[in-house]
Amino acid sequence: MRQEAWDALPEFTGADWLRAGLGHTCIECQELAYLKFGARIIDGQPICGECLKEQGEMKEAEHA
Ligand SMILES: [Zn+2]
Repeated sequence: MRQEAWDALPEFTGADWLRAGLGHTCIECQELAYLKFGARIIDGQPICGECLKEQGEMKEAEHA
């Protein structure tokens, strides 16, 4: 069985760039975001560490 949706190659998203260890534009500040520099993937979009801090979404409480 052939499904048309599978004909399209999966798009290489910003999240994929980050997972590959590469930088990608942060959706908030347009700076390059890297996982190794604290960036995270939120809803499939890269967000840099600085913006995460501003948004207060770093789960520092996990270590409490
Ligand atoms: Zn940012």
